[in-house]
Amino acid sequence: MMDNETPLPPTPAPPPPREKSCLILVDLQREFLPAGGWELPDSEAVIALTNRLQRRFRVVVATQDWHPKTHKIFASNHDKREVGQVIDFKRQVFKLTGVHCVQKTPGAELASALVRDYIQKIFPRGQDADLNGYSAFFENDHRTSTGLTEFLRARKVTEVYVMGFSPDGAVQHTALDARSLGFRTLVITDCVRTLPRPDSEKEADARALEAAEVIQLQSQDIL
Ligand SMILES: [Zn+2]
Repeated sequence: MMDNETPLPPTPAPPPPREKSCLILVDLQREFLPAGGWELPDSEAVIALTNRLQRRFRVVVATQDWHPKTHKIFASNHDKREVGQVIDFKRQVFKLTGVHCVQKTPGAELASALVRDYIQKIFPRGQDADLNGYSAFFENDHRTSTGLTEFLRARKVTEVYVMGFSPDGAVQHTALDARSLGFRTLVITDCVRTLPRPDSEKEADARALEAAEVIQLQSQDIL
């Protein structure tokens, strides 16, 4: 008699690190955590997930919002302007914010619970007081490179995964720029935190990503 019992499949080995991929951690800084000045909802949960995700990638980089205190994105550096107001400044559209992520202040530091061992390079953003880069790749002029593109190409990266803290839309802009630069691009949606906003805005962002062929997935698809 044949034994009808089906043998149990062997336990699958964890997948190897994604060889051609880079994980881009956008602005995982203390400012956006509960103790910071610009807390984003449920931001702490992202740090724990990030620590699990990082080991799945061969290349991991981080951005760090890093403003001089004279930065013109801060409403307090203009006369009679308020946070949230949209102004034209030197041919850029600035949505004015409160003071945040000022260089060498505690708020600008990366989250203390974030494991640093996997992060190969940190790219500062927003260092020029008159320019506000909304993307990990370019300053606001869409020409001045932060050096990230060159860094990734030197390491033969063809695919980027984007996630992080995005009160100013930095995750969205980074993903769209990555796509326009020819990288296969994925956004890990459950690891993105934005300011609270209406569903219609969230849907518009998701549609813009789809239109640009940016893939949206969950951390569980990677872990
Ligand atoms: Zn900023």
